[in-house]
Amino acid sequence: MSGEQDSAYESLVQFLYRAPVALIQLQKDGSIEMLNPMAAQLLMPLSADGDLVNLFQVLQPYAPVLLRLCANFKPEQGLICEGMRIAVNEHQRQHPESPAVLSLGLLKVDGNRLMAIVMDATHEVVREQRLLASRLASAAKLDTLTQLPNRAGALELLSTMTQRARAPSGDYCAVLFINFDRFKQINDTLGNEVGDQVIVLVAERLSTNLRSSSRPPGSRTSTELIARVGGDEFAVLLDGVTERGVVSAIAARLLERLSKPYMIGSHEITCTFSAGIVVLNSEAHDADDLLRDAAIAMAIAKAAGGDRFAIFRQQMREDALLRGGLESDLRYAIERGELYNLYQPVVRLLADGKVDPTAGVEALVRWQHPVRGVVGPVEFIGIAEDCGLIGAIGEKVLERACRDFVRWKQRLGARAPRLLAVNLSRAQLSQDDLCDKVSAILAASGMEPDKLQLEITESLAAQGKDIQEQLLRLKALGVKLALDDFGTGYSSLSSLHLLPVDTVKIDRSFVTLAGTSRHHEVLIEATVKVARSLGMNTVAEGIETQQQAAVVYAQGCDKGQGYLYSRPITGEAIEEWLSNIA
Ligand code: C2E
Ligand code: MG
Ligand code: MG
Repeated sequence: MSGEQDSAYESLVQFLYRAPVALIQLQKDGSIEMLNPMAAQLLMPLSADGDLVNLFQVLQPYAPVLLRLCANFKPEQGLICEGMRIAVNEHQRQHPESPAVLSLGLLKVDGNRLMAIVMDATHEVVREQRLLASRLASAAKLDTLTQLPNRAGALELLSTMTQRARAPSGDYCAVLFINFDRFKQINDTLGNEVGDQVIVLVAERLSTNLRSSSRPPGSRTSTELIARVGGDEFAVLLDGVTERGVVSAIAARLLERLSKPYMIGSHEITCTFSAGIVVLNSEAHDADDLLRDAAIAMAIAKAAGGDRFAIFRQQMREDALLRGGLESDLRYAIERGELYNLYQPVVRLLADGKVDPTAGVEALVRWQHPVRGVVGPVEFIGIAEDCGLIGAIGEKVLERACRDFVRWKQRLGARAPRLLAVNLSRAQLSQDDLCDKVSAILAASGMEPDKLQLEITESLAAQGKDIQEQLLRLKALGVKLALDDFGTGYSSLSSLHLLPVDTVKIDRSFVTLAGTSRHHEVLIEATVKVARSLGMNTVAEGIETQQQAAVVYAQGCDKGQGYLYSRPITGEAIEEWLSNIA
């Protein structure tokens, strides 16, 4: 070898000698031919008998799969494995400092020889695990649909923001809890996918409207947090609010912007929202309490009709506790006989404001609560559905109504109401034995099936196949079906023909505006026309004035129901009313 070659050879040896990776040349059976010092350093702690004769033997306890890999290795392949992780657990480690994870590469040099490359991968693995842990932690606090913080994330951010010392400027901050008024209807009628898209658009609109400069003049607010805290619920934290009044202005503007239509494919979706607001100044608050209080105020805004906001007051929390108490009271209400039926006459509309009062009655349930007095169905039907009591309540209402109806017929003869309407709730419609129960009650009371009209809300009727089948089974019993509160849901006139109903009840909100809003009048007229063309009757709900009665009659409504004729009254009062009036 020449001097030059000598020196190049020496450099190469030095290079291999100092290389920070372990290099091992071995035979096909694992016998080690050559290895550099790093290889000795990394492998020695793994060797059970303290020598490094055969790599496969050394690694066997840690990577039993290795031998199999080599045995199945095809001659044409060059690479046997690459970056294979070999974990050395605490008990196997000779020294606490020795690597916990090695990374192994094995490749073929020629027909008989292999080359192994081993590296200490401990730090790499620790880094990976940390990254993964932090990703997992942030994923657990992030809503995947909107990429906004979720409830857990919101609570964490809220507590850091509200607990830190506030500047002595006297500024307020406010937590807004925002909820769709009828999100379920969107999901039920247009499907969950459209529902999800609406959620995403709402999240975007929240962000753009809060983060842009579109705030009332004079406010220095900064939004520090927008989060999706529930399926259809969002929370917003406004910081640096100079006056309480600014919060209301922002909330009003926000609700107005959110209620502008959303376009999804060919659907134009309009939804309204309710918001609850907690305004706070310097004192520290618990994040959970803040969110709960804002949600309580939101529920009040929603109960007041939705599409509005309410600012939290302490009294609201006490009222909410009372509402919670209703659920446990309701369990006893049935056995204590606290539920009873009222009936509201449904009249046939005739010319010149005249009516035929015997067209029918609608049964409307009431609860005589021992402490709270009379509680209306809007307050407790939802609770009854949630706690599984609706089946029993619905049966009682139907049973009693049928009995009363049959008795009126016996006592009043031709003056008796000709049709009995009874409401069915969402949960009742999904009960498998609903038809059996209805037919048993009809039989027991002697009620003729075609004199009974079961009412379902529009949003329910438009639901999936199961509901449709249930409706058809009910029809097969001979009972009539009515679509209640028409106009408030998302099913349109064009899908009315798909529903097996006999009567459409036009929602009170339309009737109230009949006579003052041309738009609502046109809607009533169109509904009546379509319903007629499908052979359905129409009932105008909530007629309070002669003017409304005249308008709906002129539009062609067959029947009407409302305070103008009678409020809901007891069964005895119905008898009296009919004997006097007819
Ligand atoms: P609905 O079936 O649409 O009943 C009509 C509601 O409008 C009744 O309220 C009635 O009192 C009210 N109403 C009628 N005329 C007028 C009017 O001229 N002006 C105003 N402001 N309101 C009028 P109520 O009794 O509070 O019932 C509310 C809803 O609760 C019902 O709406 C129905 O969906 C549900 N509901 C009532 N009873 C039952 C029941 O036994 N079972 C089920 N599942 N739901 C029921
Ligand atoms: Mg009804
Ligand atoms: Mg109604």
